[in-house]
Amino acid sequence: MLNKKSVDDINVKGKKVLVRCDFNVPLDAELNITDENRLVAALPTIKKLIADGGKVILCSHLGKPKGEPKPELSLAPVAKRMAELLGQEVKFAADDNVVGDNAKAAVAEMKDGEVVLLENTRYRAEETKNGEAFSKELASLADVFVNDAFGTAHRAHCSNVGVTEFVDGDCAVGYLMQKEIDFLGNAVNNPERPFVAILGGAKVSSKISVIENLLEKVDTLIIGGGMAYTFMAAHGEEVGKSLLEEDYKEYALKMEKKAEEKGVKLLIPIDTVVADDFSNDANFKTVGRGEIPADMEGLDIGPESAKLFADAVAGAKTVVWNGPMGCFEMSNFAAGTIAVAEAMAALKDATTIIGGGDSAAACNQLGFGDKMTHISTGGGASLEFLEGKELPGVVAADNK
Ligand code: AMP
Repeated sequence: MLNKKSVDDINVKGKKVLVRCDFNVPLDAELNITDENRLVAALPTIKKLIADGGKVILCSHLGKPKGEPKPELSLAPVAKRMAELLGQEVKFAADDNVVGDNAKAAVAEMKDGEVVLLENTRYRAEETKNGEAFSKELASLADVFVNDAFGTAHRAHCSNVGVTEFVDGDCAVGYLMQKEIDFLGNAVNNPERPFVAILGGAKVSSKISVIENLLEKVDTLIIGGGMAYTFMAAHGEEVGKSLLEEDYKEYALKMEKKAEEKGVKLLIPIDTVVADDFSNDANFKTVGRGEIPADMEGLDIGPESAKLFADAVAGAKTVVWNGPMGCFEMSNFAAGTIAVAEAMAALKDATTIIGGGDSAAACNQLGFGDKMTHISTGGGASLEFLEGKELPGVVAADNK
């Protein structure tokens, strides 16, 4: 059980609090923020620290400036928008060095409850290498550290891991991190049963460790999406032009055997929507298992599979889902993904968890965003959590 110190457990009154946020927002050519979800999501932690009388120093990366100042990746537009969202000044410490004279002066002048935003941490080449010098510089600004950036929790960087070694006071997690830990960490590892996992997406190879880890924990494992064809092909079935990873056929059989030994029900699609082209305008039809024509490709699970999967989800107490059931980006091949989302949304008294990346996008895009218990904000980080790995950004925070 992960039991990390949170912002509710620390005293920040009169203290300088460095907060690692995820302000990695998309900007257009005029440097307007085109999706501010991440800024809005960061507000509860920041408001709490302001209300508690901390001197709140925000930091984040934005894009990939590759260790040098790039004006188009400055966090200046974020400072402006955060000030509007918070309803108070957010002083931007423009500094190519991130922790330079401007930042130091801005922090020195802070009063309790005031907010400063540092420049993009990836302006510094050491950031992504977890270099000691930059970690110390960041730590020198603060008495206390709070990490609320789950998207980078699977990486050991200065601003989320290195800094914790040099901050004298508490190193806690913010509300966003806490929620990810509660659901992707604790609920998945101590699930209320029945526990069903649904995996989809393009490739078996990218989710090997997730399959292996979840087979140790779940009662039912559902495999859909492009990865299912490798399982079908492993049984000698024709998969036509569908996604196939020849090298993983043996692995697929091994996983089926492991599921059997563990008493885990492993389900793969029993029908498939096949198309004559990878396009929403393609001709398409539904075929049964083993009946994919050689000149067509599977782009979604069929209605019988959708029913099979929905039935398997019904009655579950914990469901975790990562990866779409088909090419949901094309409306003709979104039905399987919608059916799974509907089955999860229909559950009462269950914990429903969406791993980040494409399934989170699918869920929000298809209108199920507010129907799930938790939608992870981290793509890579949520996959690594589901692989059972320890995330450096989580490990670095103090235990309670
Ligand atoms: P992943 O990042 O591995 O979760 O893969 C997500 C991508 O898998 C999405 O862009 C889907 O369009 C794609 N995908 C899902 N099912 C299929 C399929 N049957 N054939 C090709 N691509 C698929």
